[in-house]
Amino acid sequence: MEYPKPMPRNITVNRDEDYMEIIWMDGHRSVYPLSHLRTVCPCAECQGGHENMGGPPDRLAFLREPERPWKVEHVTLVGNYAIQFFWDDGHHAGMYTWEYLRALCPCEECSLRYGDAEALEKEKEEAG
Ligand SMILES: [Zn+2]
Ligand SMILES: [Zn+2]
Repeated sequence: MEYPKPMPRNITVNRDEDYMEIIWMDGHRSVYPLSHLRTVCPCAECQGGHENMGGPPDRLAFLREPERPWKVEHVTLVGNYAIQFFWDDGHHAGMYTWEYLRALCPCEECSLRYGDAEALEKEKEEAG
């Protein structure tokens, strides 16, 4: 069975409190810390080349504290398939598609399904 692509029903961006909330068509609710979204910017430059684009998002990179408290200055929709952030350093090349964002959803249910806790534990062990 083909699953329908995730589509947002409602998007709230709160720059003062550093979050974006998406209520999806299927009723699922995702809340993203805006500053963490910069770490997983899907643009070619941030992904290290065009050949690395289009893959699933790096959930662990997203969950980690960002290297600096990135701020969003402006947000715009790209057609009906993505959202684009204009960051405070002028960067704005990343198009965050709905699929990408849904695959990043940090809620408890998704976190369990993706096995974030185990992955973080493994990463810690490997780092010694
Ligand atoms: Zn980027
Ligand atoms: Zn979720």
